[in-house]
Amino acid sequence: MSIKRERKPSTITRYTLALSLFTLVAYHIPLFRYVSANIAPGFNGIFIMVCFALLMIVANFMVYNIILYLGRVVGKIILAISFLGNAICLYFINTYEVLITDMMMGNVFNTRFSEASGFFSLSAVAYVLLLGIPPVIYIFLRRMEYGSWRRLLLNIGISLAAIAIMAVCNMQNVLWIDRNATQIGSLIMPWSYTVNSIRYQNMQNKLNRSAIPLPDATITSDSRDVCVLVIGESARSQNFSLYGYERNTNPKLSGDDITVYQAHSSATYTTAGVKAIIDHKPTDELYETLPDYLSRSGVEVFWLTTNWGEPKLHLENYYDQHSLQAKYPDARAEYDEILLEGLSEIINTCDSDKLFIVLHLSTSHGPTYYKKYPAEFEQFTPVCTKVEVSEADNAELINAYDNSILYTDHLLHSTIELLAECTERRAMMLFVSDHGESLGEDGLYMHGMPMAVAPKEQYEIPFIVWENSEDIEARELNEVGHYHVFHSVLSFLGVESEIYDENMNIFQKQ
Ligand SMILES: [Zn+2]
Repeated sequence: MSIKRERKPSTITRYTLALSLFTLVAYHIPLFRYVSANIAPGFNGIFIMVCFALLMIVANFMVYNIILYLGRVVGKIILAISFLGNAICLYFINTYEVLITDMMMGNVFNTRFSEASGFFSLSAVAYVLLLGIPPVIYIFLRRMEYGSWRRLLLNIGISLAAIAIMAVCNMQNVLWIDRNATQIGSLIMPWSYTVNSIRYQNMQNKLNRSAIPLPDATITSDSRDVCVLVIGESARSQNFSLYGYERNTNPKLSGDDITVYQAHSSATYTTAGVKAIIDHKPTDELYETLPDYLSRSGVEVFWLTTNWGEPKLHLENYYDQHSLQAKYPDARAEYDEILLEGLSEIINTCDSDKLFIVLHLSTSHGPTYYKKYPAEFEQFTPVCTKVEVSEADNAELINAYDNSILYTDHLLHSTIELLAECTERRAMMLFVSDHGESLGEDGLYMHGMPMAVAPKEQYEIPFIVWENSEDIEARELNEVGHYHVFHSVLSFLGVESEIYDENMNIFQKQ
């Protein structure tokens, strides 16, 4: 009779070393692709690559040791979740060429499921099955002895010594590492999304502080005014025929009496872009926002949105997609025309002399541009219906995006028509996008690149103004930006304040 010998349990050292090696090999091809593309060829380049590989093995080895020894089963669960996270993260990096930065984690936390489901596909499932599940099986099925605390200390000591040696050997590469820190940090797993989630949450805590109030303002004109600020989503000026695009994506606006400005966004992602549009100056601090400020100063303010990402607002008249849908059950709530549904009613029933309305669009939000406009705007065909934009036919992707711009053209023109009908108020419409969008240029898609390395597609944005006032006109300016909005709106509505900056006003007296 033979006794089946059970496999000997692994030591914690071998067990964590195996997981650490798997982490390096399975999830870091994009990192090594990045490093090899951005380092001068030769011995030093190879040296940096080898050091990176060793550093990751040692650092993960040390952290896995600590988590398992202290956490036991909880530690195993934490590690399992991190391996699944790595697989999903790698899917995003490979599919969308995104960098997993703090801003990108912000996008993840802020994306509602209806939006997130647009990202999932069969190959996301394949990433989880092939690169997420096998290490999880290993973690729970491979028996392991946790060993003594002496063993743990020894493993930590060896790791720290190895890290110190590598740091000393790379002194001459500090500058290079510093220059590439954002990109490298966003490709190292699981640190990219864990550390950057923490950084993002810290940033949020900062944003949730109560806003610093601005000095009291006074309304100094007695005209009846309405100002509509339309905030675009991922609209880049390059694809507007008003900015020289060869395709006619602005058939309606081109017939309107508008002023078109060259403009750069101050960020490449929604939360920072929207904050800048309603902020009075570039700042990390949270000051009272334009809508809150106007509302406190006696202006009637409405915020209508199908999007997200604005700083916390304190408005009575705040309507999101859900509340708009409930209010207008017959409208097509999946498209941004829902925002225009009650616009004339708001204008016609408003008692206040000063009215400020923000429409925060979601049209042109990727990657499924084709879902953001009604069928009658599908003029450029065939369109890309793939979730994985990097595998899409580029011409089809651009067709879908251009149709979304065509729809934006329609929305803006409809707003202008509506304002022009309202003869009892001076009226103004200002359209500005939160940031631009990459559509495959240099292999990049979507947006969110750090501003320092962002391509122009991600920050060259449309800035379009229409007004029917007889006392002012739009000035000629070479370039404007997000912060012009605040001061121009103040000036249009006749609101006087200490913080008003005449240089940032796009209007002048006629
Ligand atoms: Zn955005």
